[in-house]
Amino acid sequence: MSDFVFAPAPVPSLPVAGSMAVFPIHRIYCVGRNYADHAIEMGHDPSREPPFFFQKNADSVLPPGSDFPYPSATQDVHHEIELVVALKSGGSNIPVDQALSRVFGYGVGLDMTRRDLQAEAKKAGRPWEVGKAFEHAAPCSGLLPAEKIGHPQKGAIWLKVNGTVRQQGDLNQMIWKVPEMISYLSSLFTLRAGDLIFSGTPAGVGPVVRGDRLEGGIDGIGSLALVVR
Ligand code: MN
Repeated sequence: MSDFVFAPAPVPSLPVAGSMAVFPIHRIYCVGRNYADHAIEMGHDPSREPPFFFQKNADSVLPPGSDFPYPSATQDVHHEIELVVALKSGGSNIPVDQALSRVFGYGVGLDMTRRDLQAEAKKAGRPWEVGKAFEHAAPCSGLLPAEKIGHPQKGAIWLKVNGTVRQQGDLNQMIWKVPEMISYLSSLFTLRAGDLIFSGTPAGVGPVVRGDRLEGGIDGIGSLALVVR
């Protein structure tokens, strides 16, 4: 067995609610424009075109209970509250009707976005990583196992900033449902245990500033809260 030239980074993880167990994160996939009213607010046609994906890094996760450090090189960091799907197994070309058998559970996440850098990238036809995949860009709640809560297909999803509701929607407004996004994603990538899927955000995205308190949740799944530092 060969030695690593330096100690490997620790495996990023999330707590499992009501348990001492932790969920080890493999990859983070994010779906774009999955609620019609958000697609419209971003200037796009909400028709049912194939879903598109981008990625964050596994170590972009900010575990529950941590403050969000305002990132460098931006003047316009936005919140996007999202349902997070956590996989316990994976595969390729997973049929839609078998997709939910891959799901470990669900959480509440924030797809934090440097909107100004993302907008520049879009305009120049460049990749989105500088806007989406920075450190701490994926705050997330603990995960709730599907064996406890089932597979929610409806339920309010909301985000408050300093007590004021900024985003409000319902999981039943998702254009691409969870089994469809797993199936489609598995035609492009080999999914694996430990993958997280951020499933898109409802309308109302907007900027945060240092000192803001963000509180978000999904009925039946959980909530998260953090302060921007
Ligand atoms: Mn998003």
